[in-house]
Amino acid sequence: MIDELVIASRNKDKIRELEDLLDPLGIRVRSALDFPELEEVEEDLPTLEGNALKKARYVHGVTGLPALSDDTGLEVEALNGAPGVYSARYAGLDVTYDDNVTKLLSEMEGKDHRDAQFRTAVAFITSSDEHVFEGIAKGSITSERRGDNGFGYDPVFFSEAFGKTYAELTKEEKQSVSHRGKAVRAFVEFLAANQ
Ligand code: IMP
Repeated sequence: MIDELVIASRNKDKIRELEDLLDPLGIRVRSALDFPELEEVEEDLPTLEGNALKKARYVHGVTGLPALSDDTGLEVEALNGAPGVYSARYAGLDVTYDDNVTKLLSEMEGKDHRDAQFRTAVAFITSSDEHVFEGIAKGSITSERRGDNGFGYDPVFFSEAFGKTYAELTKEEKQSVSHRGKAVRAFVEFLAANQ
């Protein structure tokens, strides 16, 4: 039975989405922002699962609390799955969301085949267990930015189900179809069944 967990992230956009998705659990949710002693974890492994486990293991090791982490990649078919695990630093180190989107749009210029997917690996670590949950959301890359909601690549990721980019969706609409929504709902169901 757990009554609290720590989100192994300092990304406020990601924390906000995870907090909403974890709300049904009715447990205390904290994040790496609440633990100044936590250092930045380098996401240098070749898979989303590996990086998610690395972040959650570190945060669990330091805080002693159950830890949850999320590593997400955008996989574009015409780019052979890039930027994938390198999505955060696609345009280089210390870049903005906008820099990454600009690079993606330029790599996709003139390409007709624009199918893509977001993939999230969520890792959950306690002192006795390690679990990974995956969520995939299919869509396509638009040729220009649309919408102001969300974050990251949302302005250029088109959802067939809604006929809009993720940045044009409300947060509830995005969560209902998104990679993170699917992975975290699988985690919530697992925890509810195993508490
Ligand atoms: P990471 O999981 O923080 O490593 O994220 C990888 C990259 O994907 C970052 O550039 C994020 O901005 C982007 N990203 C992560 N989640 C989402 C999302 O839900 N929508 C759009 N972009 C995202």
